[in-house]
Amino acid sequence: MIGERIRLAREACRMTQSELASAAELSQAAISELEAGRLSDPAEATLDRIAKATSFPVSFFYHGPLPDFPEGRYRRLQRGSSKVDKQVRALSRQIVEVVERSETQLRLPPIALDPVRDANPLTGEAIEVLADRTRSAFGIGDRDPIPNISRAAERAGIIVVRLPNYALDHDGFSAWPDYGLDGRPLIAVVGGKSGDRDRFTVAHELGHLLLHTARAATDPKDAEREANRFAGALLVSRAAAKDAIRAPITLRVLMNVKARYGMSIAAIARRAYDLGLITRDQYGSLMRQLSARKWRHMEPIEVEPERPVLIGKILAALSGSGSTSERAERIGMQPFTYSALATV
Ligand SMILES: [Zn+2]
Repeated sequence: MIGERIRLAREACRMTQSELASAAELSQAAISELEAGRLSDPAEATLDRIAKATSFPVSFFYHGPLPDFPEGRYRRLQRGSSKVDKQVRALSRQIVEVVERSETQLRLPPIALDPVRDANPLTGEAIEVLADRTRSAFGIGDRDPIPNISRAAERAGIIVVRLPNYALDHDGFSAWPDYGLDGRPLIAVVGGKSGDRDRFTVAHELGHLLLHTARAATDPKDAEREANRFAGALLVSRAAAKDAIRAPITLRVLMNVKARYGMSIAAIARRAYDLGLITRDQYGSLMRQLSARKWRHMEPIEVEPERPVLIGKILAALSGSGSTSERAERIGMQPFTYSALATV
């Protein structure tokens, strides 16, 4: 029990066993034995050192078994680091544990998502229909922008968090622990990039939760394509796209759509192509124009970043009063993570 918590704390700090060993002035063998559960009752002084080295309060190590946690899905660059994968997963698992603890005290919104079970490959058409259904479950009109996708997901019972650790090669992560057993899905936004990119990440992860939780394993490339199609369809519905993206389709047209719908110019161009509103050649030409203006990295038209609020309420309810470090201590969280998540 303590062993898996030591591993979680270490991975949350992006440390290897030997890095933790040297930070805590212990041997690597000791860390490895502890994590494997072969030393199940470590001395208090040992845990103190590990707590100091990882900035976790000692109380964290005594909270009992951790919840089961699925592998989950990452949205990251191909070269994304596996240390960051582990860090994101460790922090997410800890958040799921805290949320589970809160369910007996708080009335969290019921889960309003129903994953697709169909085993067949999904057509673009089926994804469009699913996105429309999701929009109406969110109470959004068929041509309207989604003003705050993080809040919409929270109202549908999903935990959305913005993880504090800056990782340029990652955008997001999602997992649905204990699916079918009252487990609550989680979406973590990692990068802290532009508002439009974060919104797309939340929509993309929603796509994974709906499309890849209950269906048989999908080829990872197909899964990415499906999640991207879903994200585009959720943020700019087909009806809205057909109204707003009319010939002659220039960057100016796409910029107007971005300003209204909070989705990047590049993603809107892709959306237009997916819907057959532009040809492959036109799509290629628009993307070349974006590159020539260096907009692939830094687009014009700023979209406000979103802040999830549900997790802050949960933490506030569980942590009581006092300073940040007292509150973090009560929850068993690194003060740094606590303040990043608790800020509403
Ligand atoms: Zn993905």
